[in-house]
Amino acid sequence: MEALYLHAPHQAPAVRDIPAPLPGPGQVRIRVVAAGICGSDTHIVHGANPAARFPLILGHEIAGVVEKAGSEEDQGLIGMPVAVNFLITCGTCRQCAAQRSSLCQRREGLGIVHHGGLAEYVVVPTRNIIPIPDGVPFDHAAIATDAYATPWHAIRKSGISAGEGCLLNGAGGLGLAAVQLLSALGVGPIAVVDPRPEARKAAVDAGADNVSAKVSELQDPPLLPHIFDFVGISETISSLLELLPAGGQLSVVGLGGPMTVQMDNSLVRDEKTVTGSYAFTDEDISYVLQKMAEGKLNPDQAIGRTISLGEAPAALDPAGPERGYGRTVVRM
Ligand SMILES: [Zn+2]
Ligand SMILES: [Zn+2]
Repeated sequence: MEALYLHAPHQAPAVRDIPAPLPGPGQVRIRVVAAGICGSDTHIVHGANPAARFPLILGHEIAGVVEKAGSEEDQGLIGMPVAVNFLITCGTCRQCAAQRSSLCQRREGLGIVHHGGLAEYVVVPTRNIIPIPDGVPFDHAAIATDAYATPWHAIRKSGISAGEGCLLNGAGGLGLAAVQLLSALGVGPIAVVDPRPEARKAAVDAGADNVSAKVSELQDPPLLPHIFDFVGISETISSLLELLPAGGQLSVVGLGGPMTVQMDNSLVRDEKTVTGSYAFTDEDISYVLQKMAEGKLNPDQAIGRTISLGEAPAALDPAGPERGYGRTVVRM
């Protein structure tokens, strides 16, 4: 099979022909139909993800069809269209037992530790597959598994509800999906900060009420009770903390670089909450797929371009051109 193979960090990934993997007990083999390229794939190529193991087939936003099952009891799954939760968890640790699988103490990612889905076939644990509802195309289902499920996890944990306002920092793949999810929830007003004009335009199209290039340029700083940061570097977090009103909550979702957060005692006096949000659970992916099936989201707007596997190395080459706006989806 053809696969996007990364020998070692700082090298250009290349498409290679390698034997297709076989599913063992409790595993299924997926014929991949669509797989997203995530900003964190670029981090792996740049050597910035210490968890990554090499050589590695990249790709953790995976949708396809179950094609082979390693266990007798899973034969009935063959032919099922599925999305994949890329986080392989133990199912038994304290966090897994408390339904917080994204915090599993033994979590390992497909496309990070194990071979991922930028390939014709990928083998995954049977319990990592999630059925795709009728009417959701594979390229939408692929980005449901991370680009949408990650912001949804943060939105759900924040407890924000219809009629409340919020501020989002960063309208890249995740931020833009967040605007769509918040709009669908009836949240508003939604203010968005992003230095890129095309990102601000996309945010308005997705339902943002108010956009600006910098936090300091926000017209009438909105003092909204919920702030979501999809950038995740010290500088943005510090400027967002200054805006956070008494009783407000800052949810940090981005992992953009070194992060050191300093707070004064307004944390206590103003009862501010600062929280992190990582990845998602199966339930988060199922929620997003359901909203896509109901036509409540606009995944086509979040997809910047659709390419072939042969075009994927250039899209990930550290020395290559800047990637275009929006998610890149590879169609096998
Ligand atoms: Zn990702
Ligand atoms: Zn666990």
